[in-house]
Order: sequence, then C-alpha cells, then structure tokens
Amino acid sequence: MERIASGKQSTFPCAACKILRRRCGEKCVLAPYFPPDNPHKFATAHRVFGASNIIKMLKDLPYDRRADAVSSMVYEAEARLRDPVYGCAGTVCHLQHQISKLQTQLATAQAEILKLHLQQANLVSLVSRLYKSGEESEPFSSSESDPQDNDNDNSADHNNDLFSEDSDPMLLWEPLWP
Ligand SMILES: [Zn+2]
Repeated sequence: MERIASGKQSTFPCAACKILRRRCGEKCVLAPYFPPDNPHKFATAHRVFGASNIIKMLKDLPYDRRADAVSSMVYEAEARLRDPVYGCAGTVCHLQHQISKLQTQLATAQAEILKLHLQQANLVSLVSRLYKSGEESEPFSSSESDPQDNDNDNSADHNNDLFSEDSDPMLLWEPLWP
C-alpha cells in the first residue's frame, strides 16, 4: 500500500529524500518503505543505521524481503534509541527473564495443586474410614432406622449378620488413624 502511495509520487518526495534533502526519483529505493506521511520512521532508522547503510542493505535484498527488512531495522533502531546499551538484546533478555520467572511460578503452582490433590485424597480416605468405623462402632444406629428390628431380642447377632453381608469383616480391625 505504501509502495503504491509513495512510489509514483515524482513531485512529492518520500520521507527519506525529504530528510536527506535530495531529489526523490521514480527509482528511489527508499520511497516504497518510507512514505512522506511518516517521517519519524526514516528518521529513527537513519539515526541508528545511516541512510547509506539502509540503501545498501535494501539493494542487497530481493524486493519481496525489503519491507520486512525495513520493519526490522526500524524496530531495532527504536530499541537502540530506547536502550543505547542493550537495544533489542535488552528486550530479549527482559522477556527471557520474565519467561523464567513465570516458569518458576508455574512449577510452584503445579506443586501446590499436587499437594492439594494429595490432601483431598487423604481427606476422602479418612472420611471413608470414619464413616465405616462409625457404622461398626454403633451397630444400633442401623437398626434404629428400621423400627421393626427394635423388637428383636438378639439385635447384636442381627447386626453381625449385616456386617458379614455388607462389608469386609477385616475392616473391623483396621485402625481409625493410619
Ligand atoms: Zn525518495
């Protein structure tokens, strides 16, 4: 879009030629990438790389790669002006540091989830054992729910029969607290 807008403007110089105070011809290498309405883009790249280097780099590249090269140079130039010491490397280092920090946080969160799962499993097991122990230590509670059994003289034997049918007798001797 920029190429069409600025490439055919023979009377209106591109941002690069305007800044460099030179005549912008139809064969201007910079015109397709530095439209006159965005002088800041060329000014930034020119300040860091220099116009002659930009032109040289563009001429060494095939046409279909030049737009990406300009975007990359402008991005790098902006990073270099923002951070004269590290430039783009500073941004990369900062992001790597963030990744490392987030990976540590993720590992901590995953360990916490695992711990909570184990606690939940232990709690379920404990509740299950308490429930079973409650049934075993209060044999009358099951017969209370059935009023017909209240008249039964031998209720203990009756409940023993219930246990032998409904649950493993070995569980009677299982300790409450592991
Ligand atoms: Zn030009």
